[in-house]
Amino acid sequence: MAPIPRPLVAGNWKMNGLRQSSAELARIMRGADQMTGADLMICPPATLLFPFATAARGSKLAIGGQDCHAQPSGAFTGDISAEMLADCGASAVIVGHSERRTSHHESDAEVLAKAQAAWRAKLTAIICLGETKAERQAAKTLDVVGHQLAGSVPDGATAANLVVAYEPVWAIGTGLTPTAADIAEVHGFIRDALVRRFGSEAAMMRVLYGGSVKPANAAEILVIADVNGALVGGASLKAEEFLGIAQVYEQ
Ligand code: PEP
Repeated sequence: MAPIPRPLVAGNWKMNGLRQSSAELARIMRGADQMTGADLMICPPATLLFPFATAARGSKLAIGGQDCHAQPSGAFTGDISAEMLADCGASAVIVGHSERRTSHHESDAEVLAKAQAAWRAKLTAIICLGETKAERQAAKTLDVVGHQLAGSVPDGATAANLVVAYEPVWAIGTGLTPTAADIAEVHGFIRDALVRRFGSEAAMMRVLYGGSVKPANAAEILVIADVNGALVGGASLKAEEFLGIAQVYEQ
């Protein structure tokens, strides 16, 4: 049987969490340390990166950032560089999340520059792609995802430095999910595009599904071909739910 990537279940806390959330992190960490079937990661807000990464040192739980600036330093008020994330103990960073593409008008070219910045700082880039409801209804999903992939993923991607997250915008935070067949179609399409660009290395690149993943639907979604884990928003805030999703890989 051809080797398949080790699954990753990554939690995106978005703008949620205070210092007192370290108790929830401790519960997630304890669960992560008992799991053998998948890698687990939490991407807290920037204010919690250092304390979380410090607490998670020596555990199996990885800590990631939610965004980075393309430049290593400079006059960019409010921004955080990939080097700063790495300095705090992050091992990865999400770039191109739809909330940033929409609210901060980030283009594919900017997302690509951020992914390059992540690699410059030795971080894994988790690059998000996904269509809007209107694009899906207009049967443009593969077009949109194909363009985003071509424009946002830099040359030089490897199975170690790249994770792709397919996140239909209309499924994020809505409780809606595509059908299993629709997820399979897009993930197969992404895999094929990665293989065309990066050759045999692409077989081991992780392609996550994101959008309303919960313990109740995880078993159905995570077994789909070419789904190598999940990027989880709301359900990653509670240890029980987040670990309940990752638990699928223990069976
Ligand atoms: C996300 O925003 O990356 C996400 C997947 O959110 P949710 O799980 O809440 O839909």
